[in-house]
Order: sequence, then C-alpha cells, then structure tokens
Amino acid sequence: YSLKNSRRVNDNEPLLRFREAKKVLGDVYGELKDNVAELEGVYKEIKENDFVSTEQREEIEAIRDSIKTIMDTFQRDNMKVVFFGRTSNGKSTTINAMLHEKVLPQGMGHTTCCFLQVEGSEDEVGHLQLDDNPQKIDMKMLGKIGHALSDENSELPAMGQDSLLRVFHPKQSQNGDCRLLQNDVVILDSPGVDLSPEFDSWIDKHCLDADVFVLVSNAESTLTQAEKNFFLRVAKKLSKPNVFILNNRWDASAAETENIEEVKKQHLTRFRQFLVDELEVCSEREVNDRIFFVSSREVLESRLKARGLVEKAYQAEGHGTRALEFQNFERHFEQCISKSAIHTKFEAHNRRAHEMIGKMRLNLNSVLTSAAEQRSKLQNELNESTRTFNECRVNFTQFEKAYRDQTEQLRAEVHLKVSADFFE
Ligand code: GDP
Repeated sequence: YSLKNSRRVNDNEPLLRFREAKKVLGDVYGELKDNVAELEGVYKEIKENDFVSTEQREEIEAIRDSIKTIMDTFQRDNMKVVFFGRTSNGKSTTINAMLHEKVLPQGMGHTTCCFLQVEGSEDEVGHLQLDDNPQKIDMKMLGKIGHALSDENSELPAMGQDSLLRVFHPKQSQNGDCRLLQNDVVILDSPGVDLSPEFDSWIDKHCLDADVFVLVSNAESTLTQAEKNFFLRVAKKLSKPNVFILNNRWDASAAETENIEEVKKQHLTRFRQFLVDELEVCSEREVNDRIFFVSSREVLESRLKARGLVEKAYQAEGHGTRALEFQNFERHFEQCISKSAIHTKFEAHNRRAHEMIGKMRLNLNSVLTSAAEQRSKLQNELNESTRTFNECRVNFTQFEKAYRDQTEQLRAEVHLKVSADFFE
C-alpha cells in the first residue's frame, strides 16, 4: 500500500497523511495479528514433541506479544512540536494563534515554572494532568500555576522546571474544532530559555521525540546566546532536527523602524547563518521556508474575531502581508511535521513488521521441513512394511501351492494304496 496513491488536494493534506499512515499501519498489524493467531492455533493442535519444538511455539507467542505492544504504542504516536524562546517573545500567543483559540494563558510568565503540553481530548470539557499522573486537575488551575506552585494548599504538587503539565483541550470545543489537535499534533510550550536553563535534562525528557522545533524570537532584538546554545545542544543530540524561526512582533518592528527592509535583511542573514552554518540543520535552498516574519498577536486576534470570540481585532499597518506570512509558516510547518513524524515514528514500526514476518517465515519453514522429514520417514516405513507384507504373501502363496500339491499327491498315493489293497 503506498501513501502516494492516496493524495488529497486540500489544505488538510499533510496532517491527514499522518493519520492515514497510522490507519494503514493499523491494518498491516491487524492482519499480522490474525495470521499469528492462526499459526498459534495450528501449532496448538499439533501434539507436543512432534515436529513443532517448544522454542518455535515460544517464538510465535513472543511475536504475538510484540504485535500487541506495538499496536498500543502507535495508537498513541503523535506529531510533536516544541516551542522555544525567551519569555515574552510570544510563544503562548503563537500557539494560541495556531489553535485559533486562547488555550494557554498569555503574558503571565507562566512558562517560568514548567513545560506545558497541549494535546487533544475526546471529552467535551478540558482538564489538566501532571505528567503521567492520571489524576485530572481542573482547567481553571492553568491560569494560576505561578501562584499554585508557591501555595502549599495547592491542588498541584511540587514541580521542577523540567516537569510537565499536560493540557487536554477538547478536539471539538464549543468555540470551534481544533484542526491541529484533531490530527494528533501535540504542542509543547517550554519555560523561557533565558531562565537558568537546564538544557540537557529538558532535551532528554521532552525533546528526543520532537518532530519540529519552533524558535519564537523577538524581531526587535537579535538571538541571544542562551537561545543559540539551546539549539546547539539539540542539534548535537538529535540528528538534523527540523527548526523553524519565527520573528515575532514584526508589527511592532514595522511600526517603529524606519528602514524595515534593511532590518529584515540583517535578520535573515543572521538566521540563515545560524541554521545553515552553525547548526547545519538545513541547506541554503531549504532555509527560505524556515524563517518567517510574523505577528502572532494580530493573527490570534483576527482568528478569535472570525469565531466571534472578540469584537475587535488588533491590526497594525501591513497586517495582511504578515497574516499571509503566518499562513505560509503554517503550511510549511504542517508539511514538515507530518513528513518527519511518518518517517521517524512509523518507519520503525514498519521495519519491525518486516522483521516479524521474516521470523515467522523461518519458523514456519523449519516446521514444514521437519513435517516433510517425518512424512518421508513414515513413507519409508510404510514402503518397508508393504514390501515385507508382499514377501509374506508370496511365501504364503508358494506354501499354499506346495501344501495343495502335497495333499493331492498324498491323496493320490492313498487312493492308489487303497485300490491296490482292495483288488489284491
Ligand atoms: P511567552 O512568554 O513567550 O509565552 O509570551 P506571550 O505569548 O505570553 O506574550 C507576551 C506578551 O507579548 C503578551 O502580552 C502578548 O500579547 C504580546 N505579544 C505576543 N505576540 C505579539 C506580537 O506579535 N505583537 C505584539 N505587539 N505583541 C505580542
């Protein structure tokens, strides 16, 4: 089955391809599971110590268990994007703009305390969860995290900077559907990189399975060493990470800077150098689709207005171009995240499926070989018995004939003797 055959011509395409890949993989594993169950059934009917060894039975059982584990895993697989940048550069605003809804609190420095992960929930009402702790926490706590952490009576237990607060937002919210969350995109908002960053533990705990990184930079200033250092560490730990750079607050820059085109050129040159030469994460050709000059605030507000959630949207001069630039970013982002997630997450499962099929084939072949050996042994034994039987039959016929001849002869002799006696 080729995903290329299922091209769709609409805006959703890149994200849908991930779900489609998941479905195809689900079908493949479902079929594999049925085949393994059938084989296991056949092996069970065959008597112990016949031509199926204990190892062969155990191997099939192990394959059955792996299939179950993998099927559970990939149902949970998602496309993950991590947002980084200094506090107040607009990470939460950007995430909200992409979600078309104010899901994360903005402008509160909330990110100083922990990572926030937004993911889709089938429930009508959203909730919070602390990392893997299944206990549901009321959504209203989200706006109070900063206070909650210092409050001993808080619902939230003590959390470190690298701990994770999961925000389960309804995929179909009363304010409208959320396309990203509906399509298995998971969004991670990080604490500002300017705040005593513990990069290594951050990266190990939260970023190794990320498909895309978005650096939200403040267009009014240049990249700081802290921001650069973070990505240098990421590039060391992950091979060729996908990095996007958003020059946010471009509305403010455009309003305040006289020779804005010059400034834009300078930013572009610096970011290109950073991505291509320093990080070595993309080529000269790719880099143009990785750097964008946007205003997340404008986009968020106009999207909230479109949903009737606010009456007036903030828009500065030149907002149309910035809005197009934001959409352009989203298009490239969706293509990139879907491609990367299909590649990194599903290719491994696909490889495992091939390995398992290979093992099953070897297992079955060796059982068939022993079955064939047994059959030829039995055939030989049968041939031998038939030969002995035929020999016996020949002997018996000869014996019977000899017996009959002898009896005939005896009878003739007796007859002769009796007749002789009689006539004497
Ligand atoms: P974070 O700390 O990186 O998550 O930043 P926030 O998203 O909380 O944003 C900090 C402040 O900057 C908020 O008051 C936002 O309204 C404001 N802000 C975010 N993006 C923009 C933008 O594109 N233009 C302008 N003018 N303000 C913005």
